[in-house]
Amino acid sequence: MALLLLLFLANILTISEGTCEPGIVKQIHLLRPRSGAGGNSIPGLSCLSWRLAVETNNIIGWKTVPEECEEYVGHYMLGKQYRKDSRAVAKEAFLYAQSLKLAGDGKDIWIFDIDETTLSNTPYYAQHGFGAEPYNATLFDKWVMEGAAPALPESLWLYNKLLSLGIKVVFLTGRHESQRNTTASNLKNVGYHAWNKLILKEPSKYSGKTAVFYKSKEREMLEKKGYRIIGNMGDQWSDLLGTNTGNRTFKLPDPMYYIS
Ligand SMILES: [Mg+2]
Repeated sequence: MALLLLLFLANILTISEGTCEPGIVKQIHLLRPRSGAGGNSIPGLSCLSWRLAVETNNIIGWKTVPEECEEYVGHYMLGKQYRKDSRAVAKEAFLYAQSLKLAGDGKDIWIFDIDETTLSNTPYYAQHGFGAEPYNATLFDKWVMEGAAPALPESLWLYNKLLSLGIKVVFLTGRHESQRNTTASNLKNVGYHAWNKLILKEPSKYSGKTAVFYKSKEREMLEKKGYRIIGNMGDQWSDLLGTNTGNRTFKLPDPMYYIS
């Protein structure tokens, strides 16, 4: 009996002390996860933690994807999870939009960002380390001017649903005014056939200002014109923070780059 008790106590000690990841000293709960317990390292876990921290705006101001996470981010972007995560956002946005009582005066608008929101630059980033390489404005602008970015299918789905609900769409992008024609034809070519406004950045007006400042100002001007921003969707927190952010914001995933 005493031996049994001893074994039982030894077992508890093993569970409470021996099942953590290296560096994680105390377990929050004694229940074990189904896999990865017992001190086994889970491949990719630290990159997953990095991505979660990035998506929740806990890690800010980062310049590149950590080198050791290049492969992880690549798999995420090209695999099913990115699409599933995007679908979850788009579905939630649709359920919200559907629940609204609209005035029907054409003043209810939905703001979409463009890059990594309505259009996807994954074909470009796949050639540039999925954000692990430092940002190269010359090469990226060259890619933008090709006008070959595909739609993010989940956003295109939401876009069509919003139009069918009678909501007007405004695109608000950090792309420059000089890229208007290419951007407009790129949007049209992949299925975004109509919009109320396409707002691009005038560099002279916003030189040295953050995206938060630029987008807040443009949203403020829209509201001054009597528009009601019922929804606002982007892949960067700088699309969604600041002032005049809209009744609800929706954050799409983007572990490839950070814009302040
Ligand atoms: Mg974007």
